[in-house]
Amino acid sequence: MNSTEVINITLPAIISRGIVPLPHNEIKLEAPKLETHLAIKEVMETSDKLVCVLVKKEFLNLGKEPKSFNEIAIIGKVTAVSDITNIQRIIIKTIVRCEVLEYITTVPYLKVNVVTKPSTSSSQTKELACIRLLVQELDQKAQSLFKGKPELISKVSEGVTPEILTDLFAHNLPLDYNSKIKYLNTIDITERMVMLLQDIKREKIIRDVEEEIDIKVKESIAENQKEFYLREKMKAIQEELGDKAKKESDIEELRKKIYECKMPKSVEEKALNELSRYSMLSSASGESSISRTYLDFLISLPWSKKSEDCQDILKAKEQLDKDHHGLDKVKDRILEYLAVCIMTKKTPQAILCLVGPPGVGKTSLAKSIAKAMNKQFIKQSLGGVKDESEIRGHRRTYLGALPGRILQGMKRAGTINPVFLLDEIDKLSSDYRGDPASAMLEVLDAEQNKFFSDNYLEEPYDLSNVFFLATANYLENIPPALRDRLEIVELSSYTEFEKFEIAKIHLIDKQLEIHGLSKTDFKLTDEALWIIIREYTREAGVRELERYIGTLIRKAIKTILINKETPIVIDENNIVSWIGKPRYSYTKLDEIDQVGIVTGLAYTQFGGDTLPIEATCYKGDGRLLLTGKLGDVMKESAQAAFSYVKNNAEKLNISPSVFKENDIHIHVPEGAVPKDGPSAGVALTTAIASLLSQRKVDHTLGMTGEITLRGRVLPIGGLREKSIAAHRSGLKKILIPKENVKDIEDIPETVLKDLQIIPVSTAEEVLEIALLK
Ligand code: ADP
Repeated sequence: MNSTEVINITLPAIISRGIVPLPHNEIKLEAPKLETHLAIKEVMETSDKLVCVLVKKEFLNLGKEPKSFNEIAIIGKVTAVSDITNIQRIIIKTIVRCEVLEYITTVPYLKVNVVTKPSTSSSQTKELACIRLLVQELDQKAQSLFKGKPELISKVSEGVTPEILTDLFAHNLPLDYNSKIKYLNTIDITERMVMLLQDIKREKIIRDVEEEIDIKVKESIAENQKEFYLREKMKAIQEELGDKAKKESDIEELRKKIYECKMPKSVEEKALNELSRYSMLSSASGESSISRTYLDFLISLPWSKKSEDCQDILKAKEQLDKDHHGLDKVKDRILEYLAVCIMTKKTPQAILCLVGPPGVGKTSLAKSIAKAMNKQFIKQSLGGVKDESEIRGHRRTYLGALPGRILQGMKRAGTINPVFLLDEIDKLSSDYRGDPASAMLEVLDAEQNKFFSDNYLEEPYDLSNVFFLATANYLENIPPALRDRLEIVELSSYTEFEKFEIAKIHLIDKQLEIHGLSKTDFKLTDEALWIIIREYTREAGVRELERYIGTLIRKAIKTILINKETPIVIDENNIVSWIGKPRYSYTKLDEIDQVGIVTGLAYTQFGGDTLPIEATCYKGDGRLLLTGKLGDVMKESAQAAFSYVKNNAEKLNISPSVFKENDIHIHVPEGAVPKDGPSAGVALTTAIASLLSQRKVDHTLGMTGEITLRGRVLPIGGLREKSIAAHRSGLKKILIPKENVKDIEDIPETVLKDLQIIPVSTAEEVLEIALLK
């Protein structure tokens, strides 16, 4: 069959859904329906394999009734059939349009009677004109319309007939379903050519618009990205510029400050060098912040700023008296020291060092001195300093390097001539990291401290205007080399009376003022104060006492605010409800004279205390048993005492067999506090002698002193504290080594009034007095 003859023919039909076939093309259909399969089977059995392809009038119509089909259909030749599972793929070469005359059957498959409709040509010239126009239209741009088939265009020049041309192009143009149906139904070639020209033109315009929009969209995306990038860049540049401007003004400020500091020339030069290095570093770098910290430190150190000293010794005396009760000797020593300073207009060679137990007013004396002399006051604690670099600083190359404590103190002082208190100088200790004491020597040595070198600063710093003071708890613990440079002033513990007075005159008022409470609103009776001193504190100084007073005042304020009642009165009856149960029951005296029980006297870090010693014996083989947490020295004292009594048994009327047949047990009760020190020998001897001779010991007698094997009584330390403790616990007399007589003047009057002091030089004398007949 060809596309030009008109014939009537009956053919099996299949339905094309979605595709509008046009002649002279190849279409691929997929047929899932059984009836299509049967139709194709029949077709394949014929020799020319012709089939009629019916087209739906409307794209979405799924029905099968004749009126839903387009009147014009296509006759084609099946060229290939393939079965994929239950779908059949059919390739058909379309030949000619046909008109359906009759639907013959629908079962088992559609069969139609058709007549072919070859294309007609109404006007030859019109056709030619159209071809020319079409050739013109099919330019470069038109190629993009037939993306899948670029070879189509070349067919124009190959001399394809207009009939074929229109069907080929119409088939391949991206047209909608209805437009394609129109091509199918248009038999006249010229008409189809006009339609084609129109469609190509329109498609080209649409394509142009599409391209334009596409370009615009692309451009706008690129534009957005570009804008984002530029904005980011601008931000970075702004930051950089802003930072720079800030840094520049910062550097100017620093430079101004460096000049204002009036540093020594060499240091100023170094500071300016560092500044120019700093200005070149990026502010984000770690180096920069190290450099900045160093510059800040240089600027904050005092280099020339001085406070105007007060040279009036009377004013100094006034200040010391105003702030501190008693301490006359200490104040005198301090004033003498100050007088020399005022006379020589120099800081003295030796440094004043206040030595004494905690809380006796060392720091507050130093503060008063600073106040009296109108100087800044700086306290730097040296407790636990083991490393030389804590005094002298770390090299700047170390991460987190810091200047030493001396220069840190100077920075805080802000002037070159402060009072600088080196607290707890006895707690300096040395280890493998260097000896801090030798660094301290350099600080304290008037010859050397003009050029004190700190590792962090890297430049000498002049400490010669600083008024150094030091404090220590124990004289013995101060490193000997340092001790040479110190002028020692000893402060001892306070008696109960002194504590009472200090509290009455100073502490209560001071605490009231700190807490902002008026005197009329708060009353602490004398009796209550005594109870606090005796039962709540056990200390050489008054720090704990002051803390208790502070606590009471705070609690009182709370109560006043809640109950809105004043004044608050704290007396001996309600004190427990304010600060709880007493913490100490200080050692009280035995009420009666007993055998083997003696009151020794001890010197502890809280001041003095009584030390009861008990001795007893039972059947055994002459051993000496010691209990009660005794130190080595006391154990040896007990051995020596035992030997002495053994040796002098005859004189004491003790039968020698007692030593063989009995074990002797010595106990020092209240085991919590370790007891040691060479001053219990006398008391131990008395206890053993009393026990073995069965003579009672005077219970109002206390004693202190070490003893030699031959019975000589050796001197002791801390007589003042021990006598205070003896007095506090109600003893009437104490035995002291004769060599300590010179120390009696240290004992407060109030104690001496009630306590008889009996100097002794031998154990014989001791036993004579202690053992009752
Ligand atoms: P230290 O430095 O010896 O350990 P502080 O100087 O810190 O002791 O003294 C503790 C508190 O006791 C301070 O508030 C101080 O004012 C007060 N204090 C100590 N002794 C006296 C005193 N004699 N007169 C008045 N207040 C004193």
